[in-house]
Amino acid sequence: MATQLEQQLMHPVCEEMSEFSQTKVTVVGVGQVGMACAFSILTQHVASELALVDVVADKLHGEVKDLQHGLAFTKGMIVKGDTDYKVSAGSRLCIVTAGVRQREGESRLNLVQRNVAIFKGIIPNLVKYSPNTIIMVVSNPVDILTYVAWRLSGLPKNRVFGSGTNLDTARFRFLIGEKLQIAPSSVHGYIIGEHGDTSVPVWSGTSIAGVSLVGLIPQIGTDRDMDEWKDLHKDVVESAYEIIRLKGYTSWAIGLSVSTLAQSVLRNQNAVFALTTLAQGYHGIEKDVFLSLPCVLGEHGVRHVIKQQLNPQEVQQLRNSAETLADVIKELQLPAPTLE
Ligand code: NAD
Repeated sequence: MATQLEQQLMHPVCEEMSEFSQTKVTVVGVGQVGMACAFSILTQHVASELALVDVVADKLHGEVKDLQHGLAFTKGMIVKGDTDYKVSAGSRLCIVTAGVRQREGESRLNLVQRNVAIFKGIIPNLVKYSPNTIIMVVSNPVDILTYVAWRLSGLPKNRVFGSGTNLDTARFRFLIGEKLQIAPSSVHGYIIGEHGDTSVPVWSGTSIAGVSLVGLIPQIGTDRDMDEWKDLHKDVVESAYEIIRLKGYTSWAIGLSVSTLAQSVLRNQNAVFALTTLAQGYHGIEKDVFLSLPCVLGEHGVRHVIKQQLNPQEVQQLRNSAETLADVIKELQLPAPTLE
């Protein structure tokens, strides 16, 4: 119903078009990570509507107002927020960043039990209001929680993925590029496996302008490497701990990573990213664990997993990563999966 001012200001031409926009995104959790994701999505013009959800009402409403007051300086978007999941209704993509974060020196796997309990309250609500949504999990431990989200949601496996080692991959590319004074975007390579201590740097597939680094230095990045590259993967793994020690949390890089992934879904870009996905059946992994592999990401979520040509050491490392995650999963109490 139009207000008196609306009636005086404008002639109506058509009825309201639709209650839901085609590129609505919900971010659950308005902490450091959630807001970095929201801000990147806003400034990169990724969505037409952004809904924020959190359990802490004051913080939530403060963040919503702060973003809304910046809308005059962007290309336009609707920003809403509520503690009630109704606000998320009709989302194409739901991004879950809620949860407790790592303490200094705490491994991501230690976080698991506290965050599983939180997910039991979040995931069914997201699916209730957006049954056709795609869910992206960011909260840590991201591989375990993506598995948990898949099980709790009842959604098909392509529609539940995690931000995974996309961030580790970005760190890997940055550190290689920094040493060679080449932009990270021109360094091609992936980190796969667990987003965490057992992640696997795929040196065998790392290249610049099609030139394989292993082709130039066969032992690059391995224990036999006497050069500066040997510790590069260690630096990637430790960089999250280092940033948490220095500033208390990580935010900007994960926000940019998530915004880029959201774009690939909402614009059906089919770009390839290292994402947490169901890894059962790939590279000899038999258990139903989720870990990162290079995935084609589009409007239906994960459309394909790339058949990466790993060397035997990399396959072994990946299986070790899968075993580490499977050990955690078997301790979890969850409902049986309903859909593949
Ligand atoms: P934070 O403590 O700043 O924010 C967490 C937010 O979640 C808070 O606003 C809190 O109120 C909210 N929350 C808690 N329980 C909730 C619930 N039941 N429903 C809705 N909201 C709830 O933490 P942060 O620094 O933003 O980190 C968030 C998560 O992201 C952590 O698990 C962290 O480890 C993870 N993280 C992941 C990556 C990655 O690459 N995957 C990178 C950085 C951080």
